[in-house]
Amino acid sequence: MKKLTGVAHGHNGTIKYEIDMDGNRIDDLQVLSHAETSGIFDQVIGKLKESVIEQQSFDVDAISGATVMTKSILDSAKQVINDEHIQLDSKPKKHQDNRLKRLTTDVLVIGGGEAGLVSACRALAEGRDVILVEKNGYMGGATILNGSNVVATGSNVAARVLGKNGDSPARLAADVSRECNDTNILELTNLMATNIGAAIDFISDFAGLDYQKAQTQTPEHSVERQVELPSSSSYEFIQKVTAAFKEKGGQVLLGTRVEDMLINSAGVVRGVIAATQGATYRIKANSVVLASGGFGANQRMRGSESVGLDYYGPMTSTGDAYSFNKALNLKSHDLGWYKVYPHGVEVEPGIAKLTTYASKKATDMGAVYVNQNGQRIVNESDVYTKLRDAVLKQPGKVAYLLMDKRTWNEFYSLLVLHDFEEDEIKQFFAQKDKRPYFVKGSLREVATTVGIDPAQLQITVDEYNAAAKAGVDQKFNRGKQYLHQYEGDEYYLVEQRDRFATTLGGYSVQADNMQLVTTTGQPVANYYAAGEVVGGANGHDSAPSMMNSWGISSGYVAGKAASDNAVNHQQQVSRHFVGIVGTNAEHSYNRKLLYAMQDLFEDDAEIDIHEVRGIPMFDEGIADQLPEEIQRLQTAIEQSDGVIIATPEYDHSIPAALKSVLEWLSSSIHPLKGKKVMIVGTSLGVQGTVRAQMNLRQILDCPGVDAKVMPGNEYMLPHAADAFDDNEAIKDAGSVSFLKECFANFMTFTKEEN
Ligand SMILES: Cc1cc2nc3c(=O)[nH]c(=O)nc-3n(C[C@H](O)[C@H](O)[C@H](O)COP(=O)(O)OP(=O)(O)OC[C@H]3O[C@@H](n4cnc5c(N)ncnc54)[C@H](O)[C@@H]3O)c2cc1C
Repeated sequence: MKKLTGVAHGHNGTIKYEIDMDGNRIDDLQVLSHAETSGIFDQVIGKLKESVIEQQSFDVDAISGATVMTKSILDSAKQVINDEHIQLDSKPKKHQDNRLKRLTTDVLVIGGGEAGLVSACRALAEGRDVILVEKNGYMGGATILNGSNVVATGSNVAARVLGKNGDSPARLAADVSRECNDTNILELTNLMATNIGAAIDFISDFAGLDYQKAQTQTPEHSVERQVELPSSSSYEFIQKVTAAFKEKGGQVLLGTRVEDMLINSAGVVRGVIAATQGATYRIKANSVVLASGGFGANQRMRGSESVGLDYYGPMTSTGDAYSFNKALNLKSHDLGWYKVYPHGVEVEPGIAKLTTYASKKATDMGAVYVNQNGQRIVNESDVYTKLRDAVLKQPGKVAYLLMDKRTWNEFYSLLVLHDFEEDEIKQFFAQKDKRPYFVKGSLREVATTVGIDPAQLQITVDEYNAAAKAGVDQKFNRGKQYLHQYEGDEYYLVEQRDRFATTLGGYSVQADNMQLVTTTGQPVANYYAAGEVVGGANGHDSAPSMMNSWGISSGYVAGKAASDNAVNHQQQVSRHFVGIVGTNAEHSYNRKLLYAMQDLFEDDAEIDIHEVRGIPMFDEGIADQLPEEIQRLQTAIEQSDGVIIATPEYDHSIPAALKSVLEWLSSSIHPLKGKKVMIVGTSLGVQGTVRAQMNLRQILDCPGVDAKVMPGNEYMLPHAADAFDDNEAIKDAGSVSFLKECFANFMTFTKEEN
């Protein structure tokens, strides 16, 4: 066994890894150290390793949402292998054309952050089939980056970990309103305040979460009501809730990006179109929950209020929803509002890294903030919002942290501990004429480098030193314990900007059920939303823990509303049919025909489409050992109001694969006995499937099957290759009208007594 080591460059720094080679075989890929966000890294590296080992190659796909990190490992590993002159015995994955895959579900959730997960779990717990699609190759979105702190007002969890604290939904709502200066939409704040307790209890029970009293209880909350998970990380939330969701039957599609909405001819939302590697999903759903997060990473969407602010959230918060929802004319509000914090360094244009730990330490040690005029701007040791607002008022919305060497040393070690690389900082010092400014030298030198008047800066430092010596800061009333004179004659000046990660504006919803509304205020049928994509509950400035509280409570409400809506839909459609695709071909026009019927008649009937593809050939010797697919088909047929079979014609009869399935369904079991059946078919020619349909009637009529085939109707769709449009609907109006007539007859036929 040979061990090869390599170094890749991720988002936050170097990734050291080791490749274990057994001759020319990759045996293992292990990461020795990294500085990436653990929650994301841990999910991503496992997948990467799996495909590398399976394909015995580093020429595998990078993982969406973590492309920089995974591509860097792959590129670097390829180089290591090349340098060693190793010829890998690769087994490249077969390249697949962009296949169309169809899925149907009760509730579809867009987004795998906290809001999407809670809504998905709630709908699942209500008994619905739920699919969650997530564009990244990992779960968690922005959620995974936070500390899991949330309020627990009104929950059993609060009663257990906080005791009687005098909290109430009304008190929470009042705190939220006060903190955002009443800019919130009160109905949404109330929805959050009255549901967060039940939501926390629900998700704790669902996923076995063990919330505890949060270590930090912030003063924005008038009572101690904040709780957090033992790890103080939402990664724990994402991991446990995703695992519970899947274990209880929920389906997660990772690396699957919603690109369009399925909207029927009446303008009603019926599902989504989503892209994944090598395939496009067309997912039909009775209800859709939009939980796709914020849009801070989309520079084009940022409003005027964000000018001069840098973004430090996940680069995947790109506001896709505002593109794929365009046709729906959804109402949105306050898209220019951001949750702004101080303590940022602009590391790339518009992108910040936060320096909170380092900056706080520096001001604790006496450092001051000065503006471009060389003047102090604030009591540096006051609450962060004061510093934030003071920086926003400065020319260029920029301030500088002025430190002596002793303070810089502490500042530096905290930067390196939290996300900054030593080389990166060296580079900042080297590029003197470029932002971000990191400069050192005499007071005059640091001032002139960044364009501050040195004389004014000297006055500021002298005044401050005098205040520190006296122990009284008359200018800003800074606490005595934070007043320390500058030592030595070497100074460090570091640029500081405000930053944001969370967008506070978003779509508008109905405040009772989180249903999205149009610009004219009409609720959009079947469409709900939750989390950061919906604006308003926290107004213009969310208090600590309140975005998590919004994501979890709104997801809880949206999940229930989506579930109820799906049930209503099922109750409204009067007939439930099973559709059988009568061929095992991967590409089939008869499959298209059935899906076109599913869309065309969705208001009247539900057509649950089953495949014969992949079902083992009937074998009389094991007729009682039913394959799982046959058992599922049996149950579906027994519970249905009728069956629609779409058959092609092979050699004047039905395909062998369909015949085989009918043999399974008529040997040891007989679910088709007395069942009403409609036969349809499409073929490349003018009147293909005539003989196959006659043949099928004959088979369905035999004693073992004994189905009731609708008489007097034969639906045949000619010229199949040209019969469907891009949305897979039947193009020809005459054919649609004839199909409607036949289907109406079938609806009547299935309602008649046998
Ligand atoms: C660094 C950081 C720290 C924070 N700290 C706190 C805190 O301490 N307390 C607090 O209350 N809040 C905090 N927040 C805010 C809070 O994390 C978010 O507001 C909240 O997690 C949003 O949850 P969400 O489920 O709405 O969105 P997200 O968690 O962002 O999830 C949305 C998901 O939708 C997916 N998606 C987007 N488009 C598509 C598409 N087209 N198809 C499929 N999937 C798609 C995204 O990939 C993402 O995974 C913090 C945010 C950040 C970035």
